[in-house]
Amino acid sequence: MGFRGDAVKVESVQLEALIELFDKQTELKKIRSEHEVLSSGAHLIQKQDDILAVAQEVSAQRSKVEDIERETKRVAGDLELVEKRIEKDLALVNQSTNPKDIQGIQHEMETLTKRKDELETIELEMMESIDDETSKLEQLLEHKRVLENELDSAKAASKSDLASLEGAILELEDKIGKLRASAPEDVLAIFDQRALRGVPIGKLLKSTCGACNMSLTSTALNDLHKVPGDELARCPECTAILVR
Ligand SMILES: [Zn+2]
Repeated sequence: MGFRGDAVKVESVQLEALIELFDKQTELKKIRSEHEVLSSGAHLIQKQDDILAVAQEVSAQRSKVEDIERETKRVAGDLELVEKRIEKDLALVNQSTNPKDIQGIQHEMETLTKRKDELETIELEMMESIDDETSKLEQLLEHKRVLENELDSAKAASKSDLASLEGAILELEDKIGKLRASAPEDVLAIFDQRALRGVPIGKLLKSTCGACNMSLTSTALNDLHKVPGDELARCPECTAILVR
């Protein structure tokens, strides 16, 4: 069994360095994955979608305002026609001497005046409506600007986060390189092979393996104690290198 040691010589300072190596390698893996997530830009997609949705609302609201403006112009045109007609009728009444004609024209003028009042009311309502809808449009535009600013800030933050992650990666790679270069080759080979399957090294704390957290039996502990202090010992449960 591996726990009895493979008669591989190792100094405790080298084992401490291997624990540090494992910590650094774990940290590097974590930072690389953070870097991958961040550089994919996935966290920006929601903001981009929100901006797109507001842009569509802006476009719909702008059409609404334009429709009301067009309709208001049409009503103003109608009103102008009615007013001209009233003026014309007024002139006719003043010129006419035939009471029957005068009565007919006066009747028409009453109808026209009623229509004029209606159109003026509609025009007023539409102007209020333009004000309301224009202010809604401005609110949407402001909301869009806020979202766009947020996206710009998020992009800038990502850029700076990526740069600091890249710095940390370089630093860790350098440190890992140095630790590996100073580790004995045979011990490093065992460490690397074991690392493929999980935690490759752990401290023995009382009777518990720091790599697998299993409590070792007293027999296993006795066997472990027989392994000379300058030889590599391994956990009988998980085969990780044990630092005693
Ligand atoms: Zn273990």
